[in-house]
Amino acid sequence: MHPSAKPKCPRCAGLGLDVIAVGPVLRAVPCVCVADPCVACRGSGFVAAGEGPLAPRKRCACQLVLARGRMFDTATLPGRYVKARLKDAPRDGGIEAHRAALRMFREWNNEPSRGLVLYGDVGRGKTHLVVALLRALVLTHGVSARFVEFTHLVADLKAGIERGNMNDILDPLGSVDVLAIDELGKGRTTGMTEFEGTILDEIVSRRYNAMKAIVATSNYAPPNDDKGESEADSRTGVRVGSLVDRVGERVYSRLVQTCDFVRVAGADQRQLLNPTLMR
Ligand SMILES: [Zn+2]
Ligand SMILES: [Zn+2]
Repeated sequence: MHPSAKPKCPRCAGLGLDVIAVGPVLRAVPCVCVADPCVACRGSGFVAAGEGPLAPRKRCACQLVLARGRMFDTATLPGRYVKARLKDAPRDGGIEAHRAALRMFREWNNEPSRGLVLYGDVGRGKTHLVVALLRALVLTHGVSARFVEFTHLVADLKAGIERGNMNDILDPLGSVDVLAIDELGKGRTTGMTEFEGTILDEIVSRRYNAMKAIVATSNYAPPNDDKGESEADSRTGVRVGSLVDRVGERVYSRLVQTCDFVRVAGADQRQLLNPTLMR
């Protein structure tokens, strides 16, 4: 809580940070309700840690809020989900997933936490929910997090190899408290390339060994899901495999050990939101 924020502020509820979209990513900015300079430290960043003129000084809470905002910025949450909040009512078909995300948020205690794999057809609000969860974890609990879209990550890593700094990209993905992988298993219809498979295996192994949580979304269901083996792409009609076919046995078994799998069902939110798509 920021000492100069309004506790009942509808934008930040006293945290002192607001979230805006800056280009493709979300950024945390000081909320409009925050008095400047800070009423507790008058802008110095330090406050007395005891009584009397000789009391030692400590960092003001406003500085901790600023640090949390910088942490939020490094999470690289996608800008189009600026309104995604965990406090929002779940969408039809997403109630169980919303409950699972809330449970992960409420039970977070900085110890190895179980992750979450949200799967289901495109447009069911999976990414929306993951962004809401990461936003809450970072801003409320100070969790370090990173959001990556799998195909974008692969492109970045290919560029990183050419520049000779692939580990600069991989290292934070292994070490942050929560890594969100969006569109797990997305790629060619025939499955991942060898490079994609190696990268995914490397990231999941690093996190498995470090006992760090993964939160993932996928359009592919696990094989034990009753729709998993036979689900067809609704636009092309092409039969698609299950998640295990897409990511390989090794990655899949590690996800099963460390994550809860939740199906997100219901209507296609993108079609509901875009009347031109409704004939
Ligand atoms: Zn505010
Ligand atoms: Zn202050």
